[in-house]
Amino acid sequence: MKPAAFNYKKPSTLTGVLELLRESGEDSNILAGGQSLMPTLNMRLSAPSLLIDINGVDELFGISVTDNTVRIGSMTRHAELEKSSVISEHIPLINAAMPYIAHPAIRNRGTIGGSLALADPAAELPACLCALRGFVEMTSTSATRKVEAKDFFRALYETDLKANEIITAIEIPRYDQNYFSFIDELSRRHGDYAMCGLAFHAKIEEKIISDAQIVFFAVEAKPIIAVTAMRELEGAKISDVSLEVLQGAVGNDLDPFGDLHASATLKLHYAKELIKRAITSGITSG
Ligand SMILES: Cc1cc2nc3c(=O)[nH]c(=O)nc-3n(C[C@H](O)[C@H](O)[C@H](O)COP(=O)(O)OP(=O)(O)OC[C@H]3O[C@@H](n4cnc5c(N)ncnc54)[C@H](O)[C@@H]3O)c2cc1C
Repeated sequence: MKPAAFNYKKPSTLTGVLELLRESGEDSNILAGGQSLMPTLNMRLSAPSLLIDINGVDELFGISVTDNTVRIGSMTRHAELEKSSVISEHIPLINAAMPYIAHPAIRNRGTIGGSLALADPAAELPACLCALRGFVEMTSTSATRKVEAKDFFRALYETDLKANEIITAIEIPRYDQNYFSFIDELSRRHGDYAMCGLAFHAKIEEKIISDAQIVFFAVEAKPIIAVTAMRELEGAKISDVSLEVLQGAVGNDLDPFGDLHASATLKLHYAKELIKRAITSGITSG
């Protein structure tokens, strides 16, 4: 199928984008990497009257580091995150997530802002951002605001983003070298969206766990922060963690939905397997 007719504009400044958005409101769509938007247009699942292409806005691209945070422009492509030494040094969880996202051709175009705005429940980056306690920066003609990732994702494909705003950047705190990152997922084939996935981030200092963040994806409508399981880990020696108790806590935290590829029971089974893998990996990483 071909998309319905639409107007197309490609401003070269953020101000130009925001003005167009203010004028057109819900009748327009931002075009970032186009990896999800173009198929929905082609299938006529959406038919905006205006596409605002943000690929010409230089200030939305790139990665920078301050004393306390790593800032990632919303148009930074997955492939750049995958190759960036700044990302692998300061936020290895994001780096480790990349090979799970689709295939190289999609990662060459797809952007972090697009992934967060889309809020697919099976996507890796929303869960990673929650596990890293990152912030989403959104800008309109009247204001710029930052929202913590855990409050940004609201429901199935629904976020805190307003029609007159775009995501301009993502900010992630810098963690010290004692932090351990883990991501894994179960999918039907490599590159497919996950049937169940886990992003895990915790401080492990002299084998004692603190500040653990356990975030599951592809189990419910948005990333799920497993707070009971996180409490179980606080202050525990990693080699002494009872997997049975931890898996029971994961069972309390999750209420999975079944889908075409996996039933709710199977997803819960996968979630328990993934938390086991995270702890095992934490033990072997020293
Ligand atoms: C075959 C296939 C397999 C995939 N597999 C995976 C996978 O396994 N895991 C995964 O995480 N992703 C997967 N993706 C999604 C891909 O990784 C992209 O991240 C995703 O499509 C969105 O990024 P984009 O830049 O292409 O956004 P677009 O397609 O350009 O936009 C998506 C939506 O976000 C909005 N938007 C984009 N940027 C902004 C912004 N800065 N501010 C406000 N709104 C914005 C658009 O208006 C649109 O509604 C897959 C995609 C395809 C086509």
